[in-house]
Amino acid sequence: MTIPDLECTDLTKRFGDTSAVENVSFEVPPGSFFSILGPSGCGKTTIMRMIAGFLAPTSGDIRIKGRSVLDAPPNKRPVNMVFQHLALFPMMNIADNIGYGLRRQGVSKPEITRKVGEVLERIGLPDIGERKVDELSGGQKQRVAIARCMVLEPDVLLLDEPLGALDLKLREHMKIELKALQSAFDTTFVYITHDQSEALVMSDNIAVMNAGRFEQIGSARDLYYRPETPFVASFVGDSNRWRGRVVSVSGDNLRLRSESGLDLCGNSHGRPVSDGDEAEIFVRPEAIRLGRGEADIAHFDNRLSGRVTSLLFNGAASRILLRPDSGGEEIEVALPQSGEFAHLSRGDTVHVGWSSDQGNCFATETG
Ligand code: ATP
Repeated sequence: MTIPDLECTDLTKRFGDTSAVENVSFEVPPGSFFSILGPSGCGKTTIMRMIAGFLAPTSGDIRIKGRSVLDAPPNKRPVNMVFQHLALFPMMNIADNIGYGLRRQGVSKPEITRKVGEVLERIGLPDIGERKVDELSGGQKQRVAIARCMVLEPDVLLLDEPLGALDLKLREHMKIELKALQSAFDTTFVYITHDQSEALVMSDNIAVMNAGRFEQIGSARDLYYRPETPFVASFVGDSNRWRGRVVSVSGDNLRLRSESGLDLCGNSHGRPVSDGDEAEIFVRPEAIRLGRGEADIAHFDNRLSGRVTSLLFNGAASRILLRPDSGGEEIEVALPQSGEFAHLSRGDTVHVGWSSDQGNCFATETG
């Protein structure tokens, strides 16, 4: 059996009455990219600080390559951390910045030169050793911050929202770059973010965190297509969401009467949902098909007509909002790439449909 690079068991941290992290357990296999994704204040940084050794857990254990590190101070743990503000030293050149940790460890000068040269090659910037920090672009600084950690050969690299300070375009680029760097170094990265697109693009596995607890751990696909809790369904990706009461159940298939008066068919995908339960149904905008007429959507068990209230152009991710004729809240529908519906205008009537499988249903209160 492979020993995980990082293993946290029943990790809990309380600050007085505040429970910042509650019974969190997870394993990160060697050489993988693991993200902790959650809203501000959910406890992500607290987990990182416990792994790095800056905070002692209230209870639970942290093992790196099978060994508990709870008794080790931060500088004796085989982990390193990249912060959002990178913390590069502006007065030193790049080579000295990267070699800083090795100098503190008393490594010889020739060895430092060799290792720094090697790591600069690995990040694809072999010729910048003599430059100053402010002579680098934002993306180059990111790579240098990672190189400065990787030169110390940590078992686990912790990254605390390192892309947060970058502009949107560079952030998009750095997502791909970070994943490539992680593969190149073949080192375990643990990345925390509140930005789902960062987590989805880069990670082998993602833990979705809410109010101190992990809601679900899985691949990007698992979280997107098979969310296990309403929180994950609403936090990861966009969804239409209806609350209501279950009026009939047959196996995993069910019908829900929404608070707004719509009759919706959904699927509980194995979760316990019974007749009479208060429940929620989530439907992705791209799971809803647009039809020119009723005949185009006749084969779906969910069918609606409505008027277009907004057109939200966003290239490949363009949407329309429509108000169902039968009442209730607006529905968000993805515009197909074919361009077939590009002519739609506000006020047009459209027909939409989706299968019950696409209506992911969770009981919120059992009856
Ligand atoms: P963000 O994304 O905003 O950085 P986060 O998910 O990293 O948030 P944490 O910083 O881990 O969240 O905080 C989790 C909870 O613990 C919050 O309610 C926070 O106020 C509380 N907390 C964190 N550190 C302390 C502390 N030293 N003393 C008291 N409460 C704390």
